[in-house]
Parts: sequence; structure tokens; C-alpha cells
Amino acid sequence: MGEHEPDDGKKTAKTVKKATGKQAAGKKAAATGKKAAADTGAKTSAEKAPAKTAAAKKAAVSKAAAKKAPAKKAPAKKAPAKKAPAKKAAAKKAAPPRKVAVAPKKATAAVAGASPAKTVAPKPPGGESRTALVRRARRIDRELAEVYPYAHPELDFENPFQLLVATVLSAQTTDLRVNQTTPALFAKYPTPEDLAAAVPEEVEEILRPTGFFRAKTKSVMGLSKALVEEFGGEVPGRLEDLVKLPGVGRKTAFVVLGNAFGRPGITVDTHFQRLVRRWKWTEETDPDKIEAAVGSLFPKSDWTMLSHHVIFHGRRICHARKPACGACPIAPLCPAYGEGETDPEKAKKLLKYEKGGFPGQRLKPPQSYLDAGGKPAPPLGAG
Ligand code: SF4
Repeated sequence: MGEHEPDDGKKTAKTVKKATGKQAAGKKAAATGKKAAADTGAKTSAEKAPAKTAAAKKAAVSKAAAKKAPAKKAPAKKAPAKKAPAKKAAAKKAAPPRKVAVAPKKATAAVAGASPAKTVAPKPPGGESRTALVRRARRIDRELAEVYPYAHPELDFENPFQLLVATVLSAQTTDLRVNQTTPALFAKYPTPEDLAAAVPEEVEEILRPTGFFRAKTKSVMGLSKALVEEFGGEVPGRLEDLVKLPGVGRKTAFVVLGNAFGRPGITVDTHFQRLVRRWKWTEETDPDKIEAAVGSLFPKSDWTMLSHHVIFHGRRICHARKPACGACPIAPLCPAYGEGETDPEKAKKLLKYEKGGFPGQRLKPPQSYLDAGGKPAPPLGAG
């Protein structure tokens, strides 16, 4: 796949190698970054929000006072460093976060450097302070990183074009179904040029198992044409270009940017939306606002892996209808504990994919997944 067009094949292969390397490096960097953030009191923009309010108040009194405001908060910076070592034990004990001594600073979420999404300083729900929310959110992500060290995008792909098409096809169906369908599609149409010039009825036949196959055929052929006509047959690596492609929204664009280009992005899919609201990270319902609100809680470098952790958890344990609370490793940190089955034995039976001993969604999962005992998904018609 991807080798029928010598030039494109070389380029895409390079891109994928690059992207994979970046992901691996990104993982390490993210882990290091997380610790550093915890130890230093997390210097991200997220925590800076309330300080701006404080500064603003003071500014109303006098400019000089406003300037002093950040200085006043400096001592409080030390508090998280003290708390950091205790974080794990604390995480297991107390579900709802309590008072936090960290003084939040500056406002604004540098939300989505790549994103035109609005700058937000979301109000933490339920009386939790902004700082406590940031710390709890990051603690949840750290815990999930331990539970799913092999988290990855669950669409099979070998280059940015395949990931783009697979992501568009994943609307209204499972990644498993897409993964079972795309091998035939990419074998027949390995490049945007091939797919743009295809006979629609033949593409429809291949895509039938994914549902909405006529609309999806239109989308993938349309975006292939746009890639050929406007981007020389290459998938662009910029958000503003990607969202111009027919059928490509921010969610799809961030999946491609995060996983094929190594650019941080938050993927707000149905699982992500459900879980961040259960965790009271935000009360927003609009995906763009959720993206901005959650992005403001984390360093940008964490965004891609955060998305995978959350989505993995939503698919395996924290299901829409029957969350397996009794088997959930982050129950002590979750305000929605008890929304699902709390009996440990009954909860265990609700676990899905590798957590429940079943195959995953990818026919070709990463080695780390296989090493952790995960099983590849069966091809179409095999199960
Ligand atoms: S405790 Fe229940 S609701 Fe909370 S994350 Fe776990 S499974 Fe989901």
C-alpha cells in the first residue's frame, strides 16, 4: 500500500517514519513534561487564569498594584512541589480534590496553538478551585497513562492519506469496522490520485460495511480530488488547510495532525465528550468549546496522548451506558463514581477489548499493544 506512486510513496513513507518517531519521542517528552509540571506547580497557561482576574481587580485600583500581583503569588508556587511526592497515595485516597495551595497565575488558555478556538478560562464546576481542577485532571491523565501505556490511535494506517480517509470513514461506525474495510480500499486505490479517479459505484461497494457508504464515498473521493488539485496529492500538515478539505472537520484534522504529523491535538469524539463531563473537567457541550476548555488544563505536549488515554478508557471501562466503576482504576478521582456498576466482580464482566480479554480494534496494532497482551482484531468476516 502506498507504493504505487513512487514519489508519493517515498514522501509518505518518510512522513510516517517521522511521525512515528515523533510520537515515541513525544511520549517520553510528555511523561517528563508531566512530572516537571507537577513538581514545579504546573506553569501552563491553564493555571494562569484566575491570576489574571486578581490582577485585573488590582489594576482597577492601581497599575502598580496590578504589577505586584504576580509577585505575591510566587510563594504559593512552592506548595505543589511539596505535594508532588504524595500525589499517588493521595490520588488513591481522596476522590474529590481539596484545597490546593498553588496560586494560579495568568489567565488564558493558550488553547490550541494550531487552533483558532477561542481563549477560555473555564469555570470549574462544583466549587472546585481552578488549581484543584488542573491538578486533578492531570492526575487522572497520569493514572490513565499507567493503565494504558500502549494507548494509540485505533485506526490502522500506514501514511497520512490512509489515516485521513480512515478517520472520515469512522463516522457513525466503529474503528474495528473501518479497519476491516480499508485494506481492500487502499489495495485498490493507494493514492489520492487513484481514489479521485475511481468509479464511485465501485468505491461504494467496498465501503458498504461502514454504513452511509454513498455519502462516505462522496467524501473520500471529494477530499482526494482536493488533495490532488490543491495540495499536489499530499495531505497538508496544517489545521487551516486540513479543515478546508471536504468532509474534514477539526476532530478529523486533529487526529491526522496528532498521529501522522506529530502535532499536538485534542480529539473530541463521543467518548472524550462523555468522560470529561463525568469528570467535571468542563460543562461545555459544544466540541470546539470542550476542546478549548480541556486544552487549557494541560500542556500542549500532552494533548495527543491525553486524547488516546481518555478514548481508551471510554471504550474499555467507562462506557456510555454501563460504566464499570467497580473495576475503574481512577474511581477515587472521579466525581461520577457510582454512575455505573460498583460491585467489583460484576464490573469486571463489563470490561471490553484487552481489559476484558477480547481482541482490540486494529488488525495491525502497534507492538507495544501486543507486548501488553493485546490481540489484533480479526479481518472482515472472520469474527
Ligand atoms: S468511576 Fe465510573 S464513571 Fe468514573 S471514570 Fe470510572 S467508570 Fe467512569
